[in-house]
Amino acid sequence: MQNKLVPISEFGLLGSSFYWDRHEDYGLTKAELAGVGVAGKEIYVSPEIIPSLTKVDNELQKRGWRLYLREGYRSEGMYKLLYKKRIAKFGQEITDKLLNMKNMPHTSGKAVDVSIWDEHSDSEIRLCKTGDGPESLIRGFYDESDDVEGQRCHELQEYLISLMLKQGFQLGIKNEFFHFNYRPEEWLSGETDG
Ligand SMILES: [Zn+2]
Repeated sequence: MQNKLVPISEFGLLGSSFYWDRHEDYGLTKAELAGVGVAGKEIYVSPEIIPSLTKVDNELQKRGWRLYLREGYRSEGMYKLLYKKRIAKFGQEITDKLLNMKNMPHTSGKAVDVSIWDEHSDSEIRLCKTGDGPESLIRGFYDESDDVEGQRCHELQEYLISLMLKQGFQLGIKNEFFHFNYRPEEWLSGETDG
């Protein structure tokens, strides 16, 4: 069974479970989600990563923004369910490109998917463009972008990544711009397997 987990809201952090909010888009029912441990919007993480998340949140607040969590702990059952649903929706190839079924990093409670919340407009800031598809979730997709919106996505992604790396997080092997594993002990070795 999972180590101790804590709800992020208890620590003043913002977030809302991505798959809870978007379940219909992925062909998920609330009953299916409840069956794999997702019973609402709340996000749970290992208490070990709370101080680092809070530091990133504090840094973003200087710009009128907030750290916005989209996922934290994910059970093995949830991984398996998502794998099935994502293959049905996107096909095998792109599913394998994005979902790390070998390591299942979110089962540790120390992996998070994050975004930025804008306090002024009270909405999530888009870090990739609508309609660019699953490939746009991989870091580097907008590096060579020649339109303003794409360049903005590139800058925001790199800014968020830099804040997270400073607090001991690393990107995972799938290289999604929003997925981070807490690995301060591997900071110097440069290893990454999540
Ligand atoms: Zn993730």
